Amino acid sequence: MADRTPTTLDFDALRPPSPFLTPAHDAWRAKLRDFVDTHIAPHLDDWDTASDFPDSLYVQAAQDGILGMGFREDLGGTGEDIGLYERILFAEEFFRLGSGVVFADLATPWIALPPIINGGTAEMLDRVARPVLAGEKKIAFAVTEPGGGSDVSNFTTTAERRGDVFVVNGGKTLISGAMKADYLLTAVRTGGPGMGGLSMLLIETDRAGVTRGPLPGLQWYNKNNGWLKFENVEVPVTNLIGEENRGFAGLAGQFNIERFSGISATLAMTRTCVAEAIAFARERHTFGKRLVDHQAMRHKIVDMIQRLKAAYAFLDILVWRFERGENVIADLAMLKIQATTTLEHCARESLQVLGGRAYTGGNRVERIYREARIFVIGGGSEEILRDLAGRQMGL
Ligand SMILES: Cc1cc2nc3c(=O)[nH]c(=O)nc-3n(C[C@H](O)[C@H](O)[C@H](O)COP(=O)(O)OP(=O)(O)OC[C@H]3O[C@@H](n4cnc5c(N)ncnc54)[C@H](O)[C@@H]3O)c2cc1C
Repeated sequence: MADRTPTTLDFDALRPPSPFLTPAHDAWRAKLRDFVDTHIAPHLDDWDTASDFPDSLYVQAAQDGILGMGFREDLGGTGEDIGLYERILFAEEFFRLGSGVVFADLATPWIALPPIINGGTAEMLDRVARPVLAGEKKIAFAVTEPGGGSDVSNFTTTAERRGDVFVVNGGKTLISGAMKADYLLTAVRTGGPGMGGLSMLLIETDRAGVTRGPLPGLQWYNKNNGWLKFENVEVPVTNLIGEENRGFAGLAGQFNIERFSGISATLAMTRTCVAEAIAFARERHTFGKRLVDHQAMRHKIVDMIQRLKAAYAFLDILVWRFERGENVIADLAMLKIQATTTLEHCARESLQVLGGRAYTGGNRVERIYREARIFVIGGGSEEILRDLAGRQMGL
């Protein structure tokens, strides 16, 4: 006879064991969880309502060795010698509560700082990297334009060289953290048409000619996401990051890391939804028995767990292959689609399990349901990633 003792099927239990996770990873996860439980969880509902969180969280995250994860120690980071799983666990733990409002801004230095540290001037290390890693200044990654984000080769924000300065004209939109950023890492057109004419340029938001504003609408409940306009903004040529007209060359590797983080965030939110659905279905009674005792509900839950386990198996093997130096671009693109469709499905089905209860507070499902869409669009949209995978596989 099968053992019918209820098993724990919470957030932790829903992550299948990985042969690659070590006790050191467990310790890092515990540290992150402690940070989230202490400094974020008690305020999260208020921050959701306010669409914002206090600046002090940046400083706290810096002091606790969270903000500087993976950055050079001499710049205030925790050291570059970290593996991909440390980053993955960061995304998992921050999204355990579906706290996109916090993560979107707090994690931006991971995307925006490496090109500056690797391709910027020594002066930028002191002026930009150090204060950002200390939580005292903020940076945003400003690439998407009002004319479109997917077709990077078509960007129209120009930086025209006049002596010692670039004169920047154009604009960016949908930029996480735009409203509070002191610095922007932007992609600007310094050369001819196509990808080859783009450069990365650091722009300080207090320069004359920079204006910005919020973007109301379906967001991560984050009012710091916004648009930026550049009108004859004079930027010293020393603000160029990397080689002129080779702006995207250095970013390719970074997109992989960003994609792994996005996938991990996606799967963590899925676990949160499924765990809440299971807990509810075990408690709620309809038609004389627990919700989970109705076959239709049991099938829904098993189906969600099955999809989650398949996605995690794919993720863990890709981490292993990536860390061995394999080219995983095609698989990573396909995994991102797999993970985001898993989230979309599970958020819908979990909300269905909770029924009207999902809308009455005290759970994360309703919020995650609304946030799920952005993961299918940002960090490489579904259509663009399918094309990328097809090209990489030589179809
Ligand atoms: C909450 C939020 C936060 C964001 N944060 C940032 C940020 O910090 N920095 C930043 O630079 N950007 C940010 N973005 C922008 C994001 O990166 C873009 O939305 C994304 O790159 C897609 O660009 P787009 O919205 O202009 O869509 P478009 O490029 O206009 O495309 C519209 C739709 O058409 C599809 N499509 C495009 N081309 C093709 C094709 N060839 N074949 C089939 N389908 C196609 C796309 O997949 C998409 O579904 C953010 C967006 C959101 C919503």
